[in-house]
Amino acid sequence: MPLTLKLTRRWTDRYALIVLSGLLPIVLGVFIITWQAQRSLELLATETATEAVRQFDLMLDNASLAADVVLPLSGQDCAQVELALRDQVTRRPFVRSVNLVWDNQIYCTSLFGSFKEEVIPDNYAGGALWLLPGNPVTPDEPLLVYREQEDHKGVLVSIYGFHLVNVLGLINQKTQLLIQVGNRWIDRYGQVRDTPPPTFAVANVIVPSTQFPYQVVAGFKDGVIVRHVLDEYSGFIGLLVFLGLISAATVQRLQKRSSAPTQELQRGLDAAEFIPYFQPVVRGDTQQWAGAEVLMRWQHPKEGLVRPDLFIPFAEHSGLIVPMTRSLMQQTSALLAPHVNSMSPGFHLAFNITARHCQDLELIEDCRQFLNAFPEGHINLVLELTERELIIPDKTTHTLFAALHELGVMIAIDDFGTGHSSLSYLHDFNVDYLKIDQSFVAMIGADALSIHILDSIIELSAKLDLDVVAEGVETEEQSRYLVSKGVDFLQGYLFARPLTAEDFIKSLVAKHAKPD
Ligand code: C2E
Ligand code: CA
Ligand code: CA
Repeated sequence: MPLTLKLTRRWTDRYALIVLSGLLPIVLGVFIITWQAQRSLELLATETATEAVRQFDLMLDNASLAADVVLPLSGQDCAQVELALRDQVTRRPFVRSVNLVWDNQIYCTSLFGSFKEEVIPDNYAGGALWLLPGNPVTPDEPLLVYREQEDHKGVLVSIYGFHLVNVLGLINQKTQLLIQVGNRWIDRYGQVRDTPPPTFAVANVIVPSTQFPYQVVAGFKDGVIVRHVLDEYSGFIGLLVFLGLISAATVQRLQKRSSAPTQELQRGLDAAEFIPYFQPVVRGDTQQWAGAEVLMRWQHPKEGLVRPDLFIPFAEHSGLIVPMTRSLMQQTSALLAPHVNSMSPGFHLAFNITARHCQDLELIEDCRQFLNAFPEGHINLVLELTERELIIPDKTTHTLFAALHELGVMIAIDDFGTGHSSLSYLHDFNVDYLKIDQSFVAMIGADALSIHILDSIIELSAKLDLDVVAEGVETEEQSRYLVSKGVDFLQGYLFARPLTAEDFIKSLVAKHAKPD
């Protein structure tokens, strides 16, 4: 994948994460307050409807009391009872008129005295309540009529429609309310309708009266939740936005912190600050230079020369170790190719590689280019795989190591003895060398048990027909002992510390001119 594409994707991923972490508290918070708003609107609708029912029941109680008083008068002469009817109208709040009925015929009213009109019982919900848009006296004024009936006797008590409308409009301005009587209903706008009543979009509740045959429907129109949330929770929304910003800023800071070493490494790579140092490897028998291990150093503009163990783990974690090693190989070939004549044929040049290198096949091309910089067959390219991190063999590693073998690249197991590589592991990766870890070399001259381990490693490699390099040789005693055990190659401060390219080339040229 091209590096730019990789970087762009990482860039978008990073910003997506920041935006998401900022939105998360806001979305969660809004979800909770919307749920809370829905619940409180339902509660408000129920409370309002219950209060409306209480007030309507109160009005109808008055109508019912008036009806109870005048019902026994039904059948008597209108002229005699007319005053009693009017008396109820003045006495009872909400009551507009009281009418006496005999055999389903109104015959006497508090308004006009004698009067004739038929009563149709089917008009009355539950036989007791009738909502009508007006009557011949006041055609545009809604009325609620309460009916009581006992044998031939009957009473109708009408209630002013505007009392109903007041209750519907005044209890709670926010809540939509209507009273339904039979198949008719009326809301705060005062028009009686006989279409099916509306179902409110939010928190629709129906509360029936337990005393009279009617019910109240309450609820809210669409959009009320948003308005409610904005009205009631604006402070909380501000707090959510603030939390979102804090969360996004925290994630951004954490990202910055975690990507800082990678960015610094990338900058160092672009500025060609990763440079090769060379530590010679000598032959056990003649102590002549047989090759060198290339060790990376960071020539940092502020920190000075940085040791590899301080930055290699980050480089490996970020994947930058691959282009960094490529750069190291390119610099090495450019520096040493002009002096190839000062290197004996078969001179070893060893690079350290990590598990990350074995995840794809880019390494093959890097090695090919390195070898192409030198006359064919003159240089032995060695790749050192540390035993501290085992590579799991799979299809890719199989292809990789087969191709490297084909190219003539040699494989060394670094830090041998510190990990757990098995015999099959040595076989899977076509291993040519074992590099005995310096901790074992340091045991020479110490207790007898430790020296046994070193001896066993040397014997094992002889049996497996593998060449051995002993690392960290610091004393003559160590060198003598290793040579006496037949170790092929030695590397350590006794012979040379890791050298700058300049010093390494100088010594190389000098040694070639005057071999020891
Ligand atoms: P390593 O591969 O085991 O390299 C040998 C280390 O031992 C080097 O440390 C070297 O300077 C040090 N050494 C050599 N002779 C002696 C000696 O006689 N006594 C003592 N005490 N030390 C000696 P250095 O250069 O600091 O490298 C440390 C580690 O960093 C290397 O261990 C290797 O694992 C890693 N490293 C270095 N360069 C690279 C690189 O280009 N790529 C990768 N992946 N790892 C690298
Ligand atoms: Ca090494
Ligand atoms: Ca080592």
